Amino acid sequence: MSSTSPQKTIALALSEATQRLQVISETPRLDAELLLSHALQISRAQLLARLRDTMPVCYPFEEALRRRLDYEPIAYIVGEWEFFSLSFLTRAPMLTPRPETEHLVEVTLDAATTLRAVLKRPLRILELGCGSGCVAVSVAHSLPDAQVTATDINPDALALTHENAVRHNVAVQLYEGDLFTALPSDNAEAFDILVSNPPYVESGVWDNLSPVIQRHEDPRALLAGEDGLDIIRRIIHDAPAYLHPHAFIALEIGEKQFDAVAELLQEDGFSRCSACKDLAGIQRIAYAWKTAPQP
Ligand code: GLN
Repeated sequence: MSSTSPQKTIALALSEATQRLQVISETPRLDAELLLSHALQISRAQLLARLRDTMPVCYPFEEALRRRLDYEPIAYIVGEWEFFSLSFLTRAPMLTPRPETEHLVEVTLDAATTLRAVLKRPLRILELGCGSGCVAVSVAHSLPDAQVTATDINPDALALTHENAVRHNVAVQLYEGDLFTALPSDNAEAFDILVSNPPYVESGVWDNLSPVIQRHEDPRALLAGEDGLDIIRRIIHDAPAYLHPHAFIALEIGEKQFDAVAELLQEDGFSRCSACKDLAGIQRIAYAWKTAPQP
């Protein structure tokens, strides 16, 4: 005599997955919903409307759970992530777009409004180390008349940025290479805004980072020497030669790095250095002007 087990519902599948994900995630229920809606190719709202439906056999969900249990970011598993109200393609090992990086875009757009009024022409904006392209593409999307250039040392990052630019129908000029050396030689004082989310993690804290970062994201996009300032130091030191006299610079920085970064900016001739705090109250963006535009 065969016993038929009761049909598993979507609700039960979700609570079983939530249970398993508790070990690796602080948001296990959300993770389970995102992974299952992705696997079933429906929206999260549609999934939640079908909780009583029978759970179909779904190998992609098993595979997604297996990947997540190895601490893979949800953004890599589902292949896209929202940033600044746009959806970006995401792929290892380029950093997944972080919510705090949205402040980098906000600060850049504010400065662009000021500079556009002073300079009375389309702005030229440079991003160093574009990764997935979320910053460059968001800026280009918000400033249709700006000319946006982006660089990265990793050709895979440039390919992903290109895909995201096409996805959002914006043009971003891309160059491969190490910081400013990626640029062609005719860029003296060329840029009105320089923006970057550079690597800024201290090498000593690598072992304390979440396995989500350690196992899946590119250490080259994160680590910057003993004090985490190796790349920021190079950017600030080399920036003036590439910046228009009225230019603006904005850098994402790590917790407790603001004072050191402000000092570096002042040493290299920047003024009116200030910080923008993220939602956790951390001074997350350092920004300054090469010469403050006249009010
Ligand atoms: N804020 C990032 C983190 O989560 C670091 C990003 C960076 O180094 N640019 O570790």
